[in-house]
Amino acid sequence: MLNIKAISLTREEGKVRTLARTTVEAVCGGDLHAWPETESFPRELMAALKSAGFYNIGMSEDYGGKNASTLAITECLTYLAAICPSTASILNMHYSVMPLFKWAATPEQRAGAFKSTVEGKALLAAATSEKVSRGRVWHMDGYVEEREDGFAVTCSKSFVTGARDVDYFYIPARRSPTSAPRDIDLFLVRNGSAGIRYQGDWRAHGLRGTGSIPVEFDQVLTPKDHRFKGPGSGFALSGAFHLPYYLVGLAAVYQGIAEGAYKVVQQQLSGSSDASGASAYISDNHIQRTLGDMKSQLLAAKALLVRSARLVDASAPVFAELLSVDSLDSVIANNIDDDFFVDLLATKSFVCRTSNEVVEKAFSLCGGRAFRSGHKVEQLLRDVKAGSVMAPANPVADMMIGKQVLNIPQIWE
Ligand SMILES: Cc1cc2nc3c(=O)[nH]c(=O)nc-3n(C[C@H](O)[C@H](O)[C@H](O)COP(=O)(O)OP(=O)(O)OC[C@H]3O[C@@H](n4cnc5c(N)ncnc54)[C@H](O)[C@@H]3O)c2cc1C
Repeated sequence: MLNIKAISLTREEGKVRTLARTTVEAVCGGDLHAWPETESFPRELMAALKSAGFYNIGMSEDYGGKNASTLAITECLTYLAAICPSTASILNMHYSVMPLFKWAATPEQRAGAFKSTVEGKALLAAATSEKVSRGRVWHMDGYVEEREDGFAVTCSKSFVTGARDVDYFYIPARRSPTSAPRDIDLFLVRNGSAGIRYQGDWRAHGLRGTGSIPVEFDQVLTPKDHRFKGPGSGFALSGAFHLPYYLVGLAAVYQGIAEGAYKVVQQQLSGSSDASGASAYISDNHIQRTLGDMKSQLLAAKALLVRSARLVDASAPVFAELLSVDSLDSVIANNIDDDFFVDLLATKSFVCRTSNEVVEKAFSLCGGRAFRSGHKVEQLLRDVKAGSVMAPANPVADMMIGKQVLNIPQIWE
């Protein structure tokens, strides 16, 4: 078979993608159907990914990483999401924070406070959304109080993927109880610290293995060296080294869910997984057209995703350079409606919308079978719904793009 697509990746990116495949295959055979929906944190798969070096795959070799590009990471997330969307979602939250360790942490932090994370031994949660933030993950109600021995973090996070199982929480919070919502710093807080309270169990429509429960942080003390830069640099750091990766990673996960559903339909229709007269069925023009339409949607979404991943990779050294000359804060604050951010929002919104449509079509092509619990498309249909409500929810993302196009102040201004 021609493998022209593989040539579009660099040699290193191709290697990372192959590693993702072989690691997942070693645990679950890599077969879409071999990995049943998980109702609890997917410990086995996460442990395999950790020991294969996936937690710090984007770090340089100095820290035992593989220097994987954002594009390589999106390839891994897409591949993984088709098999286990919950695992891919957990990993995306972790990956969305890792660039802060690569680009914004000091060498001292990487050698000390953040050592286990940069060496790929710790799993992170991105605890950003708050009950009052309405998806504006750059505006915080939570705050810290500076103490002699550290920062006391007080906040109420509404959804924290992997809350009970991660090693650390990444938390943006106002730098004092009286600071403005955007005047934030970014902190790392060790899980299990006194004052952390998990709120109930995760019982959800989909993504049932993510354990995305609310968590209360009541004056949780974190050491001073667990803050990235600061004070007051959190908005810019998050705009440069967290949100772009989160948006592209999120799109990659939902692209993977849609690709998974497409593959199930393709297998079912071509009779490879079902010998119940599929050949008569596939001669129907409507079936062929729908499948062709799904394929085109997936390709369009993928093209946007690849472009955005490359943009994010190109942005990192520029932002790091600005950070090194103390200009990142002003550049981000003055350019937050730059095309770069708008393109990333559009990628999130478009890919999440398209993935919903593709999985709906997969459902309709599979018919009654896919209505039964345990059918892969039934699961993917529930899982895919989360993408469009994940922050910024699609209507909010679209509104932000519209405001930029019309030159109207954004909702944070
Ligand atoms: C499975 C799952 C896992 C998650 N994991 C995490 C995590 O690990 N970390 C994290 O920080 N967050 C996480 N979240 C939270 C997520 O990112 C969103 O913040 C959250 O889903 C928003 O939900 P909400 O109910 O607060 O929505 P709201 O902000 O209340 O919005 C509800 C709806 O109102 C509409 N709406 C809201 N504001 C506007 C507006 N200004 N204009 C037009 N329409 C508007 C939108 O349609 C939106 O969908 C997770 C969510 C889910 C579902």
